[in-house]
Amino acid sequence: MVHVVNDIQISPDRLMRRVDELAEIGAITGPRGHAGSSRLALTDDDRLGRDLVMTWMRDLGLDITVDAIGNVVGQMPSDSGLAPVMCGSHIDTVGTGGRFDGNLGVLAGLEVIESVMSAGVQLPRPLAVAFFTDEEGARFPPDMLGSLVYAGGMAVEAAQRIVAVDGTGATVGSELERIGYLGAAPCPGPAPHAFVELHIEQGPVLEQMGRRVGAVTGVQGISWTAVELRGVSNHAGTTPMSMRCDPMFVVGHMTAFLRSVATEIGAPQVATVGRVELHPNLINVIPASATFTIDVRHTDDKMLREVEQRVDDELRRVAADEGVSVSTETLARFEPVVFDERVVATVVAAARRRGEEPVVMPSGAGHDAQMLARMCPTAMIFTPSIGGISHNPAEDTSVADLALGCQLLADVMLDLAADRHFEHEGIA
Ligand SMILES: [Zn+2]
Repeated sequence: MVHVVNDIQISPDRLMRRVDELAEIGAITGPRGHAGSSRLALTDDDRLGRDLVMTWMRDLGLDITVDAIGNVVGQMPSDSGLAPVMCGSHIDTVGTGGRFDGNLGVLAGLEVIESVMSAGVQLPRPLAVAFFTDEEGARFPPDMLGSLVYAGGMAVEAAQRIVAVDGTGATVGSELERIGYLGAAPCPGPAPHAFVELHIEQGPVLEQMGRRVGAVTGVQGISWTAVELRGVSNHAGTTPMSMRCDPMFVVGHMTAFLRSVATEIGAPQVATVGRVELHPNLINVIPASATFTIDVRHTDDKMLREVEQRVDDELRRVAADEGVSVSTETLARFEPVVFDERVVATVVAAARRRGEEPVVMPSGAGHDAQMLARMCPTAMIFTPSIGGISHNPAEDTSVADLALGCQLLADVMLDLAADRHFEHEGIA
């Protein structure tokens, strides 16, 4: 007999105990005594963190699989043969990481599963929690590597050959073997029924709006371009303005142009010049050359392409006017990811049932969920970041908000397990 239950209560204390215990591994101290974590992917500290979470999974009696890229999935025992409703995130951190980025989504998943199991609730299909290898990409680029491989976006053999940026010559494969996480489960992994990731926002939007929940609609697309400009270097005092071929003038013009385009289009359009290098970079010399970068992001790929085209047209026009030559190189381009409207609507409905009006918002950062979105209906839940701070030991979220996020994860996973997301056409 299948019970459809909507009122599983998670334990905030048990969640926080696990958060604190995992944060002890690779603990670092930041400003004002905040304790963060440093567990770069596939290091000894990452192994200890993995071992701890695996111990918790075993204590709960979960069926555990480790795949050939070191992703770990713990699933409730089930005879149903049905694909699980999965949640998860990552437990690797950047070198100066906080204690919640990634870890929250994994430990909240454990808490949801423990709450469901200890309540003796029988679900129509099992729940599972995963932690994916090398989400941060800080030691082995690219980021979200484990979930990318899980979703079939990169061959596991190619991923295993990736070399560490630390110059040790270590590879993903050699480090997986060394720390005992070169598993036998196949990549790509089996598609879950649905996937939901609880994560801290890592930005200031929720806090500024005074809201406690984000229902995440997708991940914005990113376009990175490097621009190289060559002009004519000359004396700053003797060269008339009309006779200049000044690459810095083009950089300045484009910086202002990007701002005006982004402002004209409005949120979520953002555009940034983050790096400028001038040669010779002297006070009294018109530079001979300039290189600068353009970072443009939007949630809609059509808009992103439109802005890329406008920026390129303007760049070539102003450079030609100034007598400066242009060459451009695309450094990175990721298409936006759109999450499943029904799952987003399920998050919205769950938040409202708990008396919270969520902010329906895109993610500014990349997450494992965007890879899982290739395989199954997916969405994310954001919980506020105090001061918008992340990738920093000072990263923080109130216990009440963490507990609410975990409770909503439970609510949403139960709805997904009962296929109640099919009742939602879209975001109400
Ligand atoms: Zn993260």
